[in-house]
This record gives sequence, structure tokens and C-alpha cells, in this order.
Amino acid sequence: MFMSTDTIAAIGTALQNSGISIIRISGKDSLNIINKIFISKAELKPNTIIYGKIYDNNTAIDRVLVSYFKAPKSFTGEDVCEINCHGGIEITRQILEIVLENGARLALPGEFSKRAFLNGKMDLSQAEAVINLINAKNKLQTQIATNQLEGNISKKIASLREELVELLAHIEVSVDYPEYDYEEVENDNVISLIDKKVTEIKQILDTYEQGKYIKDGVNVAIIGRPNVGKSSLLNNLSKSDKAIVTDIAGTTRDIVEETINIGSLVLNIYDTAGIRDTENLVEKIGVEKSLKKLDEVDLVLFLLNGEEGITDDELKLLSKIKNKGLKVIVAINKIDKTQKSIFDTILNELNKYQFDNVISLSVINNEGIENLKKAIDDIFSKSNFDYSHELVITNARHKDLLKKAVEYLEQARTEVNNGQPIDIVSIYIKNATKSLGEIIGSDVNIDVVNKIFEKFCLGK
Ligand code: GDP
Repeated sequence: MFMSTDTIAAIGTALQNSGISIIRISGKDSLNIINKIFISKAELKPNTIIYGKIYDNNTAIDRVLVSYFKAPKSFTGEDVCEINCHGGIEITRQILEIVLENGARLALPGEFSKRAFLNGKMDLSQAEAVINLINAKNKLQTQIATNQLEGNISKKIASLREELVELLAHIEVSVDYPEYDYEEVENDNVISLIDKKVTEIKQILDTYEQGKYIKDGVNVAIIGRPNVGKSSLLNNLSKSDKAIVTDIAGTTRDIVEETINIGSLVLNIYDTAGIRDTENLVEKIGVEKSLKKLDEVDLVLFLLNGEEGITDDELKLLSKIKNKGLKVIVAINKIDKTQKSIFDTILNELNKYQFDNVISLSVINNEGIENLKKAIDDIFSKSNFDYSHELVITNARHKDLLKKAVEYLEQARTEVNNGQPIDIVSIYIKNATKSLGEIIGSDVNIDVVNKIFEKFCLGK
């Protein structure tokens, strides 16, 4: 299936000066290539790693360790050799160059993992877990990706499909061989199986919203008038909790100003051009237009200046944001300089609009920051669910396919209730099993496969 069989190579580690770099080679010529460029006193047997030198023609250029995994017992399912060389950018590039000159082709992004999938070493949901794991920014993200890599989605999909496939087989026999006295398929049994599966799939779908927050982070916009303390708050949050971020190839996103960890959540604080200063917002582009920019945001952190009180424009904007259905936390900053009467007036005004999520802050004195973090965590973390152990879906592709499966099953139920013959009903059940199968990569279109692996990094 869509398989290229040439031998590919790429640098598997980040291209920067470091202790070691790894150059990966996969395909039937891997060992041949190594034999042409590598000399060692030891013999390179399968599943061993040996010491020796890499040669460019007759010149030794590096001392390295080379490992060899013989097909099918390797990551890709093909013959794989890996060269562990010194981790300089230049030497790593030179060795890759020599490997390419001796018969390998430069691998495309994700091509090693794609071969692993096509050779049946892992299914599509597990391959997607690899990229989730590489991009993970906190402990929970790594745990969920590892569970997926271990096959928790694969197992669940297999169990969801099993009874449906059995039912389909039963239907086919009874339709194709009516002369055999095969047990009739009862409508009641079909309906109860459909209901059972729909309930199970919906339970998985329910985990997606939270799964998305865990995997992609919560997108936050800090907005407020000039001088309320937005930059100070951002600096304060990022000082202690800055997350390590890598660019994710193939995704276009607005500029994220900071990515920080709060509890088990990652917050992406957005600098959506022009959105930060509410005065500019109202004056320059008009509220409606600028509010559209908040469509990508999961939470608005609306900062007020407690020293000055709340203005009509701020209240208007706040209520429009709330009417949009966005989650909002209002933070009254500069509480160290806020008079009680002004503070009470702000609270009164906010009460009128039923803003109950209000926090007092003094960013400059580091007061209220923990309360703010807790308020965010309370909104986005569901405390009664053990995300590190339960099945959680985090990929939009999985969510869409599960939804499709539910739609097909519900359609099948409608057809049964409308008195349609069982072979018509079975078309919808078949489509549902197909949608479920696409999650793990059976029946999947090559364009989808290519799209998934294109997002991987080079050498993975
Ligand atoms: P921005 O324009 O909203 O980004 O506001 P800045 O973060 O630049 O802050 C504006 C001014 O307010 C700066 O001089 C800050 O030092 C000051 N400021 C920020 N937070 C506080 C606070 O909690 N209390 C007091 N008194 N001043 C603050």
C-alpha cells in the first residue's frame, strides 16, 4: 500500500552543537551503505551497536557508534542503521552527505514513522501519539501521548468495532443465504447494539474538549486599557512558569506572546494584533470587528485599573464579550492603590452584569497571582477525572471521525425505525465501522496519511 521501497536517511537529532547526533538510515540498502563508509574491528550483527570510524573515501572523518536493527524488528519494520557521531553541526551534515552519496535518499518529514505505519509496526493513532509526545510541554501531555502510543485508543476502537462487525457478518449471511435457516436479525437487537455503541462513543467524545485544552493549551487574551498592568502581569506569569515551546511544523497560529504552565494546564497567551488595548479597540476598529479576533480565544483575562475605577466603555465591552459566550475572568489590578469606595463601585457595576469571576490583583506586589491561577485552573481542569489513566482524545481528527460514526449509527437506527430492510440499515452500520477504522488507519485515504506525516519533524 503506497509504499516506497528506496533507502532513506536523515538526521534524527536537533541540528545544533551537542554531545552526539544520530543519523538514521532505513531501507534494504542500509547495511550496504554502512559497509561502504564504516570500518570497525567488530562485526555489525543485528541488534548490536559497535565502535568504528566513518570514512569519506580514504579519510577517516569521525569516530562513531553504529547500530543495526534487522527487518522486521526495527522502528520502521525495515533494515535500520543508526550512526551516533559527534554532535557538531558540520560533522553531522558531512556524515549525512556521505550516506546520501552512497545510495540513500534524504527522508521527507515523518517518513520513518510513515514507513512504520505502512509496515504495520503501529497504527495511525499511535503514530499521531509520537508527534503529540514530541510536542508535549508538560507532564500530563506526555502521559496522555504515552498512553496513546501504548495503544489505549487502538484497543478501544477495536472493541467498539468488534460487535458491529459481528452484526454486519450476521446480516450478510441472512441476506445472502436466506435458504439456510439462519437465525433472523431482530430489529430490537440491532437497536440495542446501536444504542450501546452510541453511548460508548459519546463518552469518549466528551473527553475531547478537555483533551484539546491539555494538548494544545488554553488560549488566553489579556486585554485592558493602556497602563492597567497587562505587560506587568504577563512578565510576572512568565517569570516563574515559562513553558518550553517548539515550533510545530505545518500549523499557522497567531503570535503567541508567552506559553506558561499553570498546574496541569498550558496557557498560550496571545498577542492578537491590536487586541490588547481596549481603548484602541473601541476607537480604531469598532468593537464588533475586533471581537471577531477573539474567536480563537478560550479565556479573556480582562484587566481593570483599581486606582481609576471602571469606565462605561469597559463595561460595554465586557458585556459584549460575555454575550459572545466567552469565558471571562475580571482582574482588578493595582489593588495596593485602590480606595475602598472605588473598589466597591467596581464590584457593584460588575454585579449588575453578573460577572462573578472577579479577582483582586497587585501585580507589582505579587499579590493575588495564585488566586488568579487557581481561578483559571478551576475553569479548565475537571478535578473528578483522572486524565493520566483514562482514555482521553486530543486529536481533532479522532473527534471528527467519532462524531461521524455516531451520525451513521443514528441514521441506521432511524432506518430500522422506518421499517427499512436490514441490508439498507447495514450500509450505515458499515460506514460507522469504516469511520472508526479510519482512526487507527484501516481503510484510510493516502492523502490523509500523507497529511498526518507531513506534520512530523525531519528524521522522525
Ligand atoms: P499595560 O500598558 O497595560 O501593559 O501596563 P504596564 O504593565 O506597562 O503597567 C503600567 C504601569 O503600572 C507600570 O508603571 C507598572 O509598574 C504599574 N503597575 C503594574 N501593576 C501594578 C500594581 O499592581 N500596582 C501598582 N501600583 N502599579 C502597577
